[in-house]
Amino acid sequence: MSNDIFVWVEQFKGMVAGGSWEAMGAARRLADETGGQVVACLFGSAGVSDLAQEAISYGADRVLVAEDDTLADFRVEPYAALMAKVVREAQPQAVLISATFRGRELGPMLAVELETGCIADCTALELEDGRLLATRPIYAGKLLSKCIIPERLPQIATLRVRAFPKPEPDSARSGEVATVEPVLSEDEIGSKVTGFKETEGGVSLADASIIVSGGRGVGGPEGYEPLKELAEVLGAAIGASRAAVDAGWIPYEHQVGQTGKTVNPDLYIACGISGAIQHQAGMRTSKVIVAINKDPEAPIFKLAHYGIVDDLFKVVPALTKALREKLE
Ligand SMILES: Cc1cc2nc3c(=O)[nH]c(=O)nc-3n(C[C@H](O)[C@H](O)[C@H](O)COP(=O)(O)OP(=O)(O)OC[C@H]3O[C@@H](n4cnc5c(N)ncnc54)[C@H](O)[C@@H]3O)c2cc1C
Repeated sequence: MSNDIFVWVEQFKGMVAGGSWEAMGAARRLADETGGQVVACLFGSAGVSDLAQEAISYGADRVLVAEDDTLADFRVEPYAALMAKVVREAQPQAVLISATFRGRELGPMLAVELETGCIADCTALELEDGRLLATRPIYAGKLLSKCIIPERLPQIATLRVRAFPKPEPDSARSGEVATVEPVLSEDEIGSKVTGFKETEGGVSLADASIIVSGGRGVGGPEGYEPLKELAEVLGAAIGASRAAVDAGWIPYEHQVGQTGKTVNPDLYIACGISGAIQHQAGMRTSKVIVAINKDPEAPIFKLAHYGIVDDLFKVVPALTKALREKLE
């Protein structure tokens, strides 16, 4: 067993998911404490090795690269099988995976393959007696639990996107790149990726550092227009409550909450959202929450750092105008 920490580097068509670099930063910090190495696992089709230097610049000491058509698009079977193989061979202390949709599939599957534990959706990681002590929100974020994997190794953790700082890349760092071969052949893989369809909606909610979110209070699909203008000025993504999604005012991709997306932006502006517990489940770890609601008793104000009690159709355009003047 080594003190090394493995990190899965998630890429799509040559673009690395930001959460993977956040995981790399967390791994670097932990490995520096234990004296281990950070090993990046980078899988994809031919050419993915071009990203190896980027992984090194973000903190990897070694990069294990697999280039094969079977790994071109993420599928959990070949990725988990290959991760399991390289992890079995190297016996690292821990494997860190960003808790993206794909990471949330890979982490538990890898844990099953390796007969170990997986702590999902961590928002903080530290070391206690040489083992990972993870913090993860439970009960819709109302409680923070502390979790360990007491005996089994490696300790697998998925890291909530944007909960860990993304390190500054250092292009002067050097590291080693090694090639690994896939485990499964195409006819051993049950699922096939037949294509991709782009969803509507500009900035991705998961990656957004600012989210302007609208609920039933926007009153209809046209009620999102002032929110979109504010979002444009701020470079923000648009979120929504389930009430607005269920009403058909905005597509499901925008839904934040227990049955929607979990987001963790620097700034979350909730407009006409009451703040039901199921909505809070998806946004309560936002660093700064601003609520705009005409009901001073709305539960969102208990959570918000800043609250404006007024009509959103008055406040949002005024905010947009003021910010446009300030930012332009
Ligand atoms: C199993 C389950 C899962 C769920 N999952 C989710 C989920 O993932 N996400 C989610 O959001 N909900 C979820 N819900 C639904 C949740 O319980 C609430 O019903 C929903 O969040 C309410 O949405 P809302 O705040 O937009 O609407 P409301 O609760 O109706 O609130 C609208 C708010 O807008 C304010 N308002 C109205 N007009 C204006 C105006 N002009 N200016 C300013 N303020 C105004 C009102 O004062 C009110 O506070 C779930 C429910 C269940 C049972």
